[in-house]
Amino acid sequence: MEVVLKNLTKKFPSRDRKNHEDVIAVNDFTFEIPDGKLIGLLGPSGCGKSTTLNLISGLLKPTSGKIFFGEDDVTDLPPENRGIGLVFQNYALYPHLTVKQNILFPLQNLKGKDKLSKQEMLEKAYTAARLVQIDELMDRKPGELSGGQQQRVAIARALVKMPRVLLLDEPLSNLDARLRLQTREEIRRIQRETRITTIFVTHDQEEAMSISDMIVVMKEGLVQQIGKPQDVYDNPINLFVAKFLGTPPINVFEGQVKNNKLYIGEDAVLDIKDTADQQVYVGVRPEGFTLQEDGPLCCSLSGVEIMGRDISVVSTNKASLNPTVRAIIGTEYKVNTQQPQVRFTLKPSKVFVFSKETEERIPFEVREVGRWEN
Ligand code: ADP
Ligand code: MG
Repeated sequence: MEVVLKNLTKKFPSRDRKNHEDVIAVNDFTFEIPDGKLIGLLGPSGCGKSTTLNLISGLLKPTSGKIFFGEDDVTDLPPENRGIGLVFQNYALYPHLTVKQNILFPLQNLKGKDKLSKQEMLEKAYTAARLVQIDELMDRKPGELSGGQQQRVAIARALVKMPRVLLLDEPLSNLDARLRLQTREEIRRIQRETRITTIFVTHDQEEAMSISDMIVVMKEGLVQQIGKPQDVYDNPINLFVAKFLGTPPINVFEGQVKNNKLYIGEDAVLDIKDTADQQVYVGVRPEGFTLQEDGPLCCSLSGVEIMGRDISVVSTNKASLNPTVRAIIGTEYKVNTQQPQVRFTLKPSKVFVFSKETEERIPFEVREVGRWEN
């Protein structure tokens, strides 16, 4: 089911006695979510993710704008008539009911032509339970399950009516790290198997990047960028998006463009062309550094961390906005940790330049690729 959001806006009245301005939780959100895809809705806490999801589910009414499921305008439909499945962070299972009864619950309320026989309900419940691999736990109570198992029950309950759209709000936040990883892969597998259009809300960029067909990055109610995870990572539209995606995070420096050179602090790090002289922020992904004895970027070496396949060179630089500069290089490099300084060349495709004024990305071309080629 394709889901279309048209100029979707939600304002909440201010509770602040001094500041009477409304909170614009979702601001003019327009997006066509393609059928059968998994969309990651991503952004820091308070940016409007849950509000967006609750508008799609019908739990909240938009201040303005429209929502379509395929051709159907569902903007004024109550949640129970939209054909959605909802999963929240806290599993919200009925503690006194067994797993089976919890999963059956949404089916027991069906009325009229949708009413099912007991046998049909059981079949559907077991199909959903098998999808999330809990069919052996059907007679237990939620209290007898681990957090991961409880969340699977919640997902089964959301799936049992085979919803048109599956909405998940930070469904993995209460799980420990290992279970989180495992369960997110499960969600991916279930989504692929069922082809249900799914919107997955998280503040965890890695989670969103790893399972989504497309991600939507939000900030303060406004959509910043929509795209395939890798494309957004490789081509962030502004400093906020660049900083929000990637672990370890992007290194950001004070810099400037002057006479066709890009500077980080005093160091001319790239020869570029056709970019006006101006003050900028320079973002360099950790994988964008190459160790080179006479490289143009000079940093004070703090230490080296060896992490399996990679080496992380930790250093400082006066122009850096982050307390440390983190460069990830291959283990084939040897770093002399006795030396006070370390020098790098930069891979141009891993370097982003942002206007200091607007924080928007400024595209640039390298003038003389030569030794700075990737
Ligand atoms: P997220 O899920 O991204 O953390 P939310 O969608 O929950 O963010 O909230 C977005 C903004 O709207 C926040 O500033 C929040 O305080 C505000 N907000 C959310 N729900 C309400 C409400 N019922 N009343 C007033 N303000 C709200
Ligand atoms: Mg939320």
